[in-house]
Amino acid sequence: SAKAKGKNQVVFCNEEVKAQTTRRLRLTNGLYRALDRNELFVMYQPQMCTETQKVCGFEALVRWNNPEYGLVQPLFFIPLAEQTGLIRPIGMFVFEQACRQLIAFQQTCQERLTMSVNRSVVQLKDARIVENMKKILKKTGVDVHALQIEITESATFLDEPILLERIFELKQLGLSLAVDDFGTGHSSFSRLKTYPIDQLKIDIEFVQGITTGSDKDKALIKSIIQTAKNLGMEVLAEGVETEEQLQFLSLHGCDKVQGFYFSKPLKVEEIIANNQQIAF
Ligand code: C2E
Ligand code: MG
Ligand code: MG
Ligand code: MG
Repeated sequence: SAKAKGKNQVVFCNEEVKAQTTRRLRLTNGLYRALDRNELFVMYQPQMCTETQKVCGFEALVRWNNPEYGLVQPLFFIPLAEQTGLIRPIGMFVFEQACRQLIAFQQTCQERLTMSVNRSVVQLKDARIVENMKKILKKTGVDVHALQIEITESATFLDEPILLERIFELKQLGLSLAVDDFGTGHSSFSRLKTYPIDQLKIDIEFVQGITTGSDKDKALIKSIIQTAKNLGMEVLAEGVETEEQLQFLSLHGCDKVQGFYFSKPLKVEEIIANNQQIAF
C-alpha cells in the first residue's frame, strides 16, 4: 500500500497527479485545434439483425488522432469537450459525417441501412442543437428515418423537463431514439415510459453476465428484453463477444446485436474495401 512504501510513494503520487494535469491541459488545448486540423474522425461499428445475422446498420463512434498522444478515446475527450463548449462543433461534425457516410453506405452496400449517433445530456441541453441538426439534415439530404440518436441512460436524463422537450423536437424531425447503456443508470421502465423510445440498448455489463453471471442475471436480461418488447421497443444488446451470448440473446428474442463477436468499430475505408465480404 501507499502507506507501507512511505515517503517515496507520496512523491510518486504527486508527480503522477502533475503529469495527469499536464496531459489534461495539453489535450484540452489540442482539442481547440483538433477539428481544424482534421484530427477527429468517426469509426462505424456494425449492428446485426439477430434473426438474419446480417448488418442492418452502424453506430458512429468518434475518435481523436492526437499528434502527441496518439489515439484518444471518446470516454476521455468528450468530457473535456463538454467542459469547454467544444462539444457543440464536435457534435455537429460527427453528425454531419454520420449523415454523409450513411448515404454512401446505402449507395454502396445496402439501401436500408441505418445510422445511430451518440448525443450526451450536455449536448441536448444546448438550445440550438435541434436547429443545427436540422440544417445538417437539409444540407446532406439524408433519409432522416434511417437515423437514430442514442442517449445514455442516467439519472439526470430523466429528471429534466428540458430534455424531454428536446427529445420530442428531435423525434418530430423524424429521428429514432435509443436509450444507451440501459441497466447502468437509475431509471426503471415506469420512468422511461414518458419518453418516446424506439430502441433499448442493453448495456455490455448485462451481456457479459450471460457468460459470467448467475441464473438470476440471465433471468434479469430475459425480463428486460420481454418488458421492452411489451412496451413496443426494439431491443439491441451491446458488447456481444461470444457465441454463447449470441445464442442466449437470440433465443430470448433480442432483435439486434452489436459487439466484437461480429466486428469492432471500423474505419470507412475498411468497410468500403471489404463490402463484398460483409453480409448486408
Ligand atoms: P457507447 O455509445 O455505449 O458505445 C459502445 C462502446 O463499446 C464503444 O466504445 C465500442 O467501441 C465499445 N464496444 C463495442 N462492442 C464491444 C464489445 O464487444 N466489447 C467491448 N469491451 N466493448 C465494445 P467507444 O467507441 O470507446 O465509445 C465509448 C463511449 O463514448 C460511447 O459509449 C459513447 O457514450 C461515447 N461516444 C462515442 N462517440 C461519441 C460521440 O460522437 N458523441 C458523444 N456524445 N459520445 C460519444
Ligand atoms: Mg452508443
Ligand atoms: Mg455510453
Ligand atoms: Mg452503450
